[in-house]
This record gives sequence, C-alpha cells and structure tokens, in this order.
Amino acid sequence: MILGVDIGGTKSAAVLGRADGTIIARREEPTEAQTGPQAILARLIALARELLKQQDLSPRDLSGIGISCGGPLDTKTGIVYRPPNLPDWDAVPVRALFEEAFPGVRVVLENDANATALAEWRYGAGRGTQSMAFLTMGTGIGGGLILDGRLYRGANDLAGEVGHQTILIHGPLCKCGKRGCLEALASGPAVARLAQESLHYGRGKRLVEIAGGKPAQITAKHVIDAAKEGDAFCQNVLSEVGTYMGIGLANLIQILNPERIVLGTLAVHAGDLLLEPIRKAVAEYAWERSRSVCSIVAAELGDRAQDLAAIVLAAE
Ligand SMILES: [Zn+2]
Repeated sequence: MILGVDIGGTKSAAVLGRADGTIIARREEPTEAQTGPQAILARLIALARELLKQQDLSPRDLSGIGISCGGPLDTKTGIVYRPPNLPDWDAVPVRALFEEAFPGVRVVLENDANATALAEWRYGAGRGTQSMAFLTMGTGIGGGLILDGRLYRGANDLAGEVGHQTILIHGPLCKCGKRGCLEALASGPAVARLAQESLHYGRGKRLVEIAGGKPAQITAKHVIDAAKEGDAFCQNVLSEVGTYMGIGLANLIQILNPERIVLGTLAVHAGDLLLEPIRKAVAEYAWERSRSVCSIVAAELGDRAQDLAAIVLAAE
C-alpha cells in the first residue's frame, strides 16, 4: 500500500492507493495556508494516520510515501523552499518530518508539476511513451519532462519550467518577473486578459453576457463556454492563445523530439477549440520530421490527477 500526500495552496489530501493507480481511500481538508508550515504538516500527518486507521492498516503496511507539493524544492534533501501558494514556507524539511512520523517507510518528495507529469505518463494520456512533456494550462503553466523513460529534473530540480520560456520580448509581464513568458500568454488568466483587451466596437457581446454583464469578471471558463456555443469572437481568442502555446510547444519539439505532449486544464475543457490552433502553430514552427512523431493530446486523469501524482512517486 502507498500513502500519497498532496499539499496544495487551498486544499490538501492524504490518499491510500496501489502502484497500479487504484485509489483505495482518501481524505481531504482545507490547507489553511495562513497557519504556517508546522501546523499544516502536523495536521496532514494526523490525517494520514486517521486514514490508515480507518482502513485497519498500520504504517508497517506502507511500501512508500509520495509527497507532491508546489516548488521550488530540493528532491535530494527533501526541503521545500518558498512555494508561491504557501506563504511563510522557507526551507521546510517536509521529507524529514514524514520520515520521523513514519519510521522505516521510504518517503519521496517531488514538485507537483513533475509528479503530475509522472502520473499522466504512468496512468493517463502519456501511457506507453518513452519521451513525453506534460504542461498544465491552469492558473499558471507548469510542466514536467519524461525523457528516455524517466523524469528529467535538471541540475537543481528546475527542469520542465516550460511556462517561463520567452515567446514575446515585449509581451505582458509574467508573475515570475519576466516579460512575454508562455505563461503570461497562454494560461487561464492570460486567456481572460486577452479576451478583455479584445473587446471593442461591440465585439464579444456574448462573452460579456456570459460574464454577467461585467467585462472585468471575464474568466477563461467564460471564453471556452462561449466558444463552444459557436461564438466567433471567443473562438478567435482561443485561436490566438493556441498560437502562442503552439510556438512554445514547437520550441520543445525542436529541443527534445518527444513522442507526446500532454496538456492539462484549459486543453481538457476546450478540447479541439484549443488543440487545433495549437497543432496548426506547431506545424508552422516545428520541423515536419520531429512533429510528425509527436501527438499533442489533452490530459486524461482529471479529478484523479493530484491523488495519482502523489501515489506515483512511491510507485516507481
Ligand atoms: Zn514567467
């Protein structure tokens, strides 16, 4: 049995599962980020113990513990630095705390994007490939790279930060401080911003209607909903976002020659409305020989992604 722990900015979960991706039981609770790392981790350890007890299991039944958490973090030392979604965390020895709470059990810590990449590779849309890139397309664009059958971490765990490749040198400011990053052009907030900025001469009326008449409240979900209804304005917004994304993916394809690229969240919700413009841009900006072997698909794990991301770490 594997214990998976997912530490998120708003909610966290403890999960019991097997190496084949079967989830046996799970418990979730609000992270209450403002209570600080010590309190959060103490609650999570207590939650994990309760979960084991509920299933009539003891820590001796665990073959490993996988912990998925926002980075930056150091997988060699098991220390988490300052995740943007967890204020007041600074050099927290997460792995050591779990090793202390569950003596004798192997504990693996990994950043959540890499962990989700591993989960999609083993259980989801990346199954059967040797080289795969995974990109989230949510609030931000995180990523993970599986190269030649294993997770590629880089020199200090910063490989796969594909959302912060520069696409436009004078582009919009990114949360990371740079300009024109892929994340600033193709994440959920970027879709909303682009839609808002494109409203003019009465264009985008249907979108504003869906957003309750308030342009400032437009979200990526509104844009996708209207595009699915057939609204041309919103389809154009997705097509523009898809072009930026496609340029980013073409860069990846030129460098890594992957077999598959798996895209999360927005690509899952929008489907071909986003995937088609992405594939079109990839066709324009990547060599034919490299792109012809690379399929670009939506992620498959959906709601189970976070749980399986934690489980997969101890399943390897
Ligand atoms: Zn950036």
